Amino acid sequence: MRTLLIITLFVFSITDNAFCQTSGTIVMDEVVRVPARHEIALPDIPGYKTLKCDFHIHTVFSDGVVWPTLRVDEAWEDGLDAIAITDHIEGHPKKLPGQNHQSYEIALPVAKAKNIILIKGGEISRGMPPGHLNAIFVTDVNALNVPNYMDAIGETVRQGGFVMWNHPGWRKQQPEITRWMAEHEAIWQKGWMHGIEVFNEKEWYPEALQWAQDKNLAIIGNSDIHDAYNKRYNREQFPIRPMTLVFAKECTEESIKEAMFARRTATLFFNKLIGPKELVEPLVNQSIQVSKPFLYQDGFIYFEVENTSDIEFTLVKMGKDDSGLPEKTILPCKSTIIARVKQQADQPRTYSFKLENVLTGVEKPMELTFNIK
Ligand code: ZN
Repeated sequence: MRTLLIITLFVFSITDNAFCQTSGTIVMDEVVRVPARHEIALPDIPGYKTLKCDFHIHTVFSDGVVWPTLRVDEAWEDGLDAIAITDHIEGHPKKLPGQNHQSYEIALPVAKAKNIILIKGGEISRGMPPGHLNAIFVTDVNALNVPNYMDAIGETVRQGGFVMWNHPGWRKQQPEITRWMAEHEAIWQKGWMHGIEVFNEKEWYPEALQWAQDKNLAIIGNSDIHDAYNKRYNREQFPIRPMTLVFAKECTEESIKEAMFARRTATLFFNKLIGPKELVEPLVNQSIQVSKPFLYQDGFIYFEVENTSDIEFTLVKMGKDDSGLPEKTILPCKSTIIARVKQQADQPRTYSFKLENVLTGVEKPMELTFNIK
């Protein structure tokens, strides 16, 4: 997305003299890690940029354990384009004592200097119902700290904010089943619920995906990170953090807001991609390229399948055939595999797959077709 590359060159002059120095301060610049942004390979789709965002993040201004500027540093290094810091609006026992909501103001200069879009927000945190809702793109977080949750949501809307229902299936608040309650219906009926977390931290909620599609809510996925990011997740297995993908006209806050109200979002979490068919299909089709056959030999055709993205795709063959293709094929991130199918050179054939890790609805894996001739 962003082709930002910062190279810091350290020039050392380690000489025998330095080692022999017997007084003063000996600076060892070489031990300092050079800050670098890990770019996430995800293609844009026709007409829109694919922006990587996390809209649910905590700091010491509620029950998080880190200072707001660290959240921006993490987001930049993790290859995100935009974040919202969403501390609990009503306060929290673990919060810095005597402080108001200042995380946005503290983080903003660093966000500007790192070209990260920082969106102002907070988490309306009430018991269930209605549970927790994030208010983002607001102008005054403190004005949302009012006794009645409906007034808080109404104020969010009055400020032009976007409201998402957070972790709707959180077992602490919905112990048995994930329910859409009368209170959620009332918020939605007013047109005051715009999005829903289908993914939060380490859980995802099929019911929320169904509601997003039935009720026209933006599909959201957020880390809800409280810890330092690297302490929380297994980065060796999952180098890419969970995120909301926003398909925006431009890489600006206004454009992200427009896209979210237009429901042009999906979520990518731990190699699972979930979103509307019309957004997810072009993303996958831009990611997977099938070459022309490069060899015809002994009744087999050989061609290459390249995955240019950072999503590992699992293809499961649909139907039975005599092509010799395996039932399941893994397409690793940013790599090419060679496929061999039993096929005559002059007889075009079509091969269809279900993508096990890409959903366009509940139990609806995306389908992918290759035409080989
Ligand atoms: Zn939260």
